Amino acid sequence: MSTVVCIGSLNVDLVFQVDRMPVSGESVTGHGLERHLGGKGLNQALAAARAGSSVALVGAVGNDDGGAWMLRELAAEGVDATGVATVDGPSGTALIEVDATGANRIVVIPGANGAVTEEFAAAQVSRLAPAAVALAPLEVPPAAILGAMRAAKNAGMTTILNPAPVPADGIPTGLLDLCDIVIPNEHEATTITGIDVHDVDSAIAAGRALMAAGAGSAIVTLGSRGAAWVTPDACGHVPTYVVKAIDTVAAGDAFCGNLAAALADGVEWETALRRACAGGALATTVAGASPSLPRLADVNTLIATGEVT
Ligand code: ADP
Repeated sequence: MSTVVCIGSLNVDLVFQVDRMPVSGESVTGHGLERHLGGKGLNQALAAARAGSSVALVGAVGNDDGGAWMLRELAAEGVDATGVATVDGPSGTALIEVDATGANRIVVIPGANGAVTEEFAAAQVSRLAPAAVALAPLEVPPAAILGAMRAAKNAGMTTILNPAPVPADGIPTGLLDLCDIVIPNEHEATTITGIDVHDVDSAIAAGRALMAAGAGSAIVTLGSRGAAWVTPDACGHVPTYVVKAIDTVAAGDAFCGNLAAALADGVEWETALRRACAGGALATTVAGASPSLPRLADVNTLIATGEVT
């Protein structure tokens, strides 16, 4: 039985370096090609698994080498990928170009992620029930997330939405009503609510707006300032930990995965939030997405010994 079901994208991240970005029509020589697991669905599933949960992932890969590789890696990490379909065409792929100054340019090809349908996602979530928590970011078609969250609600799961990236036409109608917890970062909270989120008070105001729009509760992550939260009865702020941040990629994924794992374990709200902050903080101390997702032992050590911001 899975305690956390993640619904979302799986990508092969191809990372390479260039001395400088080419201009249109120009060829430059790159170097240092690396392949990493990526995609917000896969990252969050891995984060929850490393946080100690039994995790299943629902999504799709292509029938290519990258798809087979992702399925092997998920198995090695102990993630149940029986809900990941293999479809014709390429797997989701991100081409990540990093120049000598550390600036990056990213092209994402959704590939198989675009093939996840409402019916498929709903059927897989129902099949994987009972699970305690369903967790979904927004890199697969909105209809698939709606179907998955509806099925999760019907199965009695706690539903968590990480509205990232915010779709160009906004959050799908009816989705927030299906979410027990919505977790945007400050930019996403600003885009969705129209409130300029820049500190704890404005984050709480945005959280209240998300609840007025249908969400059961809200957590707005604030980078090195931790996270603000609002429930029907209370609101507050949880500080994060002082770390030497070198790469903030996947901090939000680590936060969401750790929160889902803790709540699935029955950990109470503020302790779960501290674990989520510690997970997010640790993810900033290692380069890359999946390589930076921490394990529960390291999260617990940071909580026990770390300095809070
Ligand atoms: P995203 O990666 O989605 O933009 P944030 O940047 O808000 O999300 O980071 C998510 C969480 O990770 C924060 O709430 C915080 O707990 C932790 N975090 C992020 N950046 C830092 C940092 N520089 N130092 C400590 N913790 C951080």
